Amino acid sequence: MNGKPIGRFVGSRMTVGRYWEGGCTCGSGEDGREFHDRMGIYCGITCSVCHKDDPGKWAPGIMTDEAPYDVEEQIDEDK
Ligand SMILES: [Zn+2]
Repeated sequence: MNGKPIGRFVGSRMTVGRYWEGGCTCGSGEDGREFHDRMGIYCGITCSVCHKDDPGKWAPGIMTDEAPYDVEEQIDEDK
């Protein structure tokens, strides 16, 4: 097996400094790291191979503030 084995979280859920140590969950052997959406919600482990944090793999607006769709407010407008 090349590279690192799949890692694990170090620290408990109650620990502020929890971090991922070891290889990515994709099994590439590259260092894994946590990634979060733009709201700071944990989304998983990614690395330089699997790029799970690629914004293109997520619905628009999840990973970035970009909103390619028009967010239209519902305005009652008498015509
Ligand atoms: Zn990976």
